[in-house]
Amino acid sequence: MGQVTRCEPEVAKRGRSFGGRGGVCAESKRGIHLYGEEGRMKVGIVGTGMVGSAAAYALGMRGVASEVVLLDRDPALAEAHALDIAHAMPFASGTTVANGDYDSLRDAGVVIIAAGVAQRPGETRVDLLGRNAVVFREVIGEIMRVCPEAILLVASNPVDIMTQITTEISGLPAHRVIGSGTILDTARFRNLLGAHLGVSPRSIHGYVLGEHGDSQVLAWSCALAGATPIAAFAAQVGAPITEAVRVRIDDQTRNAAYRIVSGKGSTYYGIAAGLARIVGAIRQDEQAVLSVSTVTADVEGVRDVALSVPRVVGRAGVTADLFPNLDIGEHAALHRSATLLRGLFESVAL
Ligand code: ADP
Repeated sequence: MGQVTRCEPEVAKRGRSFGGRGGVCAESKRGIHLYGEEGRMKVGIVGTGMVGSAAAYALGMRGVASEVVLLDRDPALAEAHALDIAHAMPFASGTTVANGDYDSLRDAGVVIIAAGVAQRPGETRVDLLGRNAVVFREVIGEIMRVCPEAILLVASNPVDIMTQITTEISGLPAHRVIGSGTILDTARFRNLLGAHLGVSPRSIHGYVLGEHGDSQVLAWSCALAGATPIAAFAAQVGAPITEAVRVRIDDQTRNAAYRIVSGKGSTYYGIAAGLARIVGAIRQDEQAVLSVSTVTADVEGVRDVALSVPRVVGRAGVTADLFPNLDIGEHAALHRSATLLRGLFESVAL
């Protein structure tokens, strides 16, 4: 059965109040200007490598932040990106873009964390995770010192584990620490399904669940074109979803990153647009349904694990988790993904 879990009880339990929908945050009434009355919102980006800088560019081009502040361990890199992106703004939006230090993140509504260290030759995934956990301890400590009210948006990979580490280190309630998760995998899935069926990907309602990585689960059984199940729609338009089509779409969704990395070293434009989409949903208090990662109390019997399911995203962060109707195989695959992620998280010494 599909299921919706509202997150408000947790909010109430932890004594936080964000006001009602469309209202001004309780925090801003107390003088912390998360989203000033005029709707301004500062977004901080910590880590301005390819992903962080592309996210700044996407935020500015879409005009979803009034102010973007870039910060990196390499200040010259952050400054160079800030200048370059600021020069694009007269062609795009009124977003101001600048580099800064942690103190300049004060009053930010969202902080994107895209910092990280690269894998050394021969280094295991767990060792790399350990080194990134050290980076995150420093970064999150500073963010919590200057803007403890911000929503944290984690982009560093492996994003589900880094999201859980961020939740753990920050001590924030899970709904305020959002990982980009499978937002990009879902976009790829919708794109491929839309192209096959001859409809806009925006009219495809389909999601990729679980890990942003190899164990992800394409939720074929509940995907819709408009309001019609995709298999029925495919039959109507004479474009059946054969086994060969399924295998191709699964492969092109699951393995897209490998293809891009082999061609140009890393992926960043797609995830940057996804991050801008999430920030837009927060700023506009959209209550948009997006597949993002947060620590979730129970996924297929696995306790406290960060992974993606469709979730409702607005000003307060995640306000509800939507567990779609899945078939037996998809349930089992999501259980495997959750088990793998929980095990990996437990292997990291925090
Ligand atoms: P990606 O492709 O994921 O963006 P990069 O290696 O290009 O990866 O970017 C990661 C960025 O994170 C680098 O610019 C690096 O300087 C930055 N970084 C690493 N550690 C820290 C830290 N402790 N504080 C701020 N930035 C950091």
